[in-house]
Amino acid sequence: MKIKINEIFFSLQGEGLQVGVPTIFIRLFGCSLRCSWCDSMYSVEGDDYNELNTDELLNIIEKIECKNICITGGEPLEQKLQLENLTNILLDRNYKILLETAGHIKPIEIFKNPNVIISMDCKCPSSNMQKKTNVKYLKALESKDQIKFVINDIVDYEYARDFVTSNNLRAKIVFQPVFGSDLKDLANLVLRDKLLVRVVPQLHKIIWGDIRGV
Ligand code: SF4
Repeated sequence: MKIKINEIFFSLQGEGLQVGVPTIFIRLFGCSLRCSWCDSMYSVEGDDYNELNTDELLNIIEKIECKNICITGGEPLEQKLQLENLTNILLDRNYKILLETAGHIKPIEIFKNPNVIISMDCKCPSSNMQKKTNVKYLKALESKDQIKFVINDIVDYEYARDFVTSNNLRAKIVFQPVFGSDLKDLANLVLRDKLLVRVVPQLHKIIWGDIRGV
């Protein structure tokens, strides 16, 4: 079974609860959303991908010698069968997996495995994809998982704040400022409103800038 891969690279996890942890990134190709601030359009449109079978993929990642894997995109769940197959194989080989998903497709059962963290977006207004979020999927996440709000402005902040205070969510909450927006403003708002969330900027962009493959 072949899977469309945009890129594979080794770096520090730059986002969310695992921030700073050395990780292999497997970026799957293809996404039906079009977020206004998308920073990986090269994995959404065009033809920048290779179709790899599982052996070819394992051959690449086993050479890196790291047991933390982030499966990202694009939208990984848009290649559902291939993703399920890959996840099964990785779990059998004792990898720990972080799956990044946009929140418009139901996650598959295998992601309930304790060695998988689901990082699901709740799209804020400035993304222009707010209506694509399926609240049911966010509410079904467990305490091992995380919900990520990418926040660009005060409208996004108020949307995210109202969402987390009015819904009974088990997953941990991350507020991530859009790269280049004012981190201090977001931090002050969270402290003012005493929210039980984590404010986490994109570490990889602070270290290396807004470039691909890190
Ligand atoms: S869901 Fe992710 S990959 Fe798809 S357009 Fe939005 S930010 Fe880009």
